[in-house]
Amino acid sequence: MTCYRLGLTGYPLGHSRSPELHRGFLARCGLCGEHRLYEVAPDRPEALRALLEALRRGEIHGLNVTIPHKTRILPWLDALTPAAAAIGAVNTLWAENGRLWGDNTDAPGFLHDLRARFGAWAARPRRARVLGAGGAARAVVYALLNAGWEVAVAARRLEQAQALCAALETAAGRSPAPRCRPLPWARRAAGAPQADLIVNATPLGMAPRPEASPWPPEAAFPPAARVYDLVYNPADTRLLQQARAAGLPAANGWGMLAAQAALAFHRWTGCAVTVDNRPQKP
Ligand code: NAP
Repeated sequence: MTCYRLGLTGYPLGHSRSPELHRGFLARCGLCGEHRLYEVAPDRPEALRALLEALRRGEIHGLNVTIPHKTRILPWLDALTPAAAAIGAVNTLWAENGRLWGDNTDAPGFLHDLRARFGAWAARPRRARVLGAGGAARAVVYALLNAGWEVAVAARRLEQAQALCAALETAAGRSPAPRCRPLPWARRAAGAPQADLIVNATPLGMAPRPEASPWPPEAAFPPAARVYDLVYNPADTRLLQQARAAGLPAANGWGMLAAQAALAFHRWTGCAVTVDNRPQKP
């Protein structure tokens, strides 16, 4: 019987919740295995290469990748799933016949949790406003466009939002592709009544600065919107407090984290774990 050696690489990894999630999955599936953190600083590319070679040789069975390696690792992989290629970042690696594969489970993980949190409401494509245009935003926008949503992306560097929309509109697996529109950061709350979903994909509000919020305090929310904050530490972010004060349903990103981990675990072990969608804890 395989005894699974799983892990996460990134830098820094001090507060990672991955070992807890994956060790829980191993136990629930009745599988032998371990999960380790491989902290590799960005100035040690040779250490990252060595880790990939261990994966290729089968000494590690599955590896998650997080900041800052999600994009820089791409040239060292042999094959990407269509989602990873379109998003331009990987978070899940494995070896198949000596070839290194990369996938991005953040995108389906987000969509899974959106549906888990907001039920049938989320099953119908609507209009979303995504705040931030970094790696996580790319996964979220890819997922939404593929599910038929219209998306506006607000970024403090407008060119980042423009590049994101240009890349992902054409990569969406739908024809005609739903529209992705870049928005200047100063207009992130403007005309918001046209938005049904607001997603925070910036680190604003994350520990150790929980007082920050991407939503301007004086701005009104769209009256019937849902708010999803990718940040999950703290569990009750400033943005979620603002949304709830306005009477809106709101969710943090813990469920997305658990869902993307479960999808990676399924890929590595073949065991499908249903993630507990209730915990809002950090
Ligand atoms: P990233 O690639 O660094 O992108 C962050 C984005 O936020 C960039 O567009 C950045 O703009 C913008 N931003 C940062 N500080 C800002 C500020 N003060 N004002 C306005 N915009 C600002 O990071 P990421 O990987 O996308 O992660 C974003 C957040 O999502 C993090 O909190 C991360 O922990 C969370 N996340 C959660 C999950 C989950 O499973 N729940 C998964 C992935 C990420 P610049 O490029 O101009 O700095």
